Amino acid sequence: MLTIDGSHGEGGGQILRTSLSLSMCFERPFHIINIRAARSRPGLRPQHVAAVAAAAAITGASVSGNTIGSRTLSFAPGCTRGGAYRFDIGTAGSTTLVLQTLLPALLTAAQPSHLTLIGGTHNPLAPCFEFLHRAFLPLIARMGAKLTASLRRPGYFPAGGGVLEADCEPTPRLKPLVLPVRGALRALRAEATVAKLPEHIARRELAVLERRLGLVGDNLKLRIDTQATGPGNVVTVDAVSAHISELFAGFGERGVRAETVAERLVRRVRRYLAADVPVGEHLADQLLVPMALAGTGSFLTLKPSAHTVTNMDVIHRFIDVDIDLQELAPDRWQVSLRR
Ligand code: ATP
Repeated sequence: MLTIDGSHGEGGGQILRTSLSLSMCFERPFHIINIRAARSRPGLRPQHVAAVAAAAAITGASVSGNTIGSRTLSFAPGCTRGGAYRFDIGTAGSTTLVLQTLLPALLTAAQPSHLTLIGGTHNPLAPCFEFLHRAFLPLIARMGAKLTASLRRPGYFPAGGGVLEADCEPTPRLKPLVLPVRGALRALRAEATVAKLPEHIARRELAVLERRLGLVGDNLKLRIDTQATGPGNVVTVDAVSAHISELFAGFGERGVRAETVAERLVRRVRRYLAADVPVGEHLADQLLVPMALAGTGSFLTLKPSAHTVTNMDVIHRFIDVDIDLQELAPDRWQVSLRR
């Protein structure tokens, strides 16, 4: 059986999630050791246990080791079956990461699927719902996939309780994605949201974005979220260009000033705009699995993150694919993939 080392490279949960996605797509069993070895609390966390359980339910897999804290796991999937599924992570663990794990296989299923995922929808260190909806899924749709996602209720870390729903139609073969240029910047828009927190937090974040990114009028939005069960603050910047829409998100944290949250976000937006590439840091690692399934594709991106490089290595373990990284300038890299 294929053995994956979860301590390799970045050493986090993505190694497990990518392995699950590809194992489901190719009905290829795997065994993973040293799960999340590079994290301060290694082993499976609730979000990972939920992703494994969901992948097992959808494929009728036989699984061993899927318990919180476990550092090894075996997963032997059967055929992916579309249908209506509801998975509750039970904590604020990221629903978007669970969706990204299941999506590749659900696209290959013979039947359409409707997913209801309960947990976090706005977590630091994971794609927030807006990123999924306005940056990631539109690119998967460009690859021919018919899918929609909606946020029924936001769930902020640490309270969770968010509800994400997604529908996807079978797409037996994804089309290649080629993203060589970003094109002219058409709009830069910021949105600051607070749930059960003072409004001035969002106002102060928007003031920084106004001053530092030159945003005015309708491009600055303040939202008061009255649906969430717990407190939260997220601030996003959409960069809409001729050939791609990217989205950057910052999250309020206890003990971190609103101005600091916004300044960090400004730095990431400015880095992206200055590099003049279409694909930002996070999209880069997340596009690799769909692109590998399409069989070919390429994009220009920032200097690849450890997540990107590690994800390439995991994909290589499952698929015979050439992934080439070429440095064109320090913060301008070409990623090309061919099977
Ligand atoms: P751990 O690292 O604790 O195991 P994890 O299971 O959540 O946690 P990671 O391996 O760190 O997983 O993967 C996190 C994923 O979330 C990566 O795909 C990364 O690109 C993505 N991500 C992190 N922050 C953002 C963000 N601000 N916007 C979009 N995607 C993000």
